[in-house]
Amino acid sequence: MAPITLTPIAVGDLVELRKPHPCGGREWMVVRVGADIGLRCTRCQRRVLLPRREFERRLARLMHHAQRTEAPLETS
Ligand SMILES: [Zn+2]
Repeated sequence: MAPITLTPIAVGDLVELRKPHPCGGREWMVVRVGADIGLRCTRCQRRVLLPRREFERRLARLMHHAQRTEAPLETS
């Protein structure tokens, strides 16, 4: 049983997932953090919502930490 490590992500962070999006993009912008993680493909702008555990499994690496002061907050 692998321990679940919680990646300290925040809205505005850029992450790379193991599997590329059908559009070919691999970089995602974090647009929502909670029980579910909201991600927006930086290539086609499509948004997905992943359960936190699923997100942790698919995460390849954290590419960029947003500046906590002015994260590009998105609602909805
Ligand atoms: Zn995409």
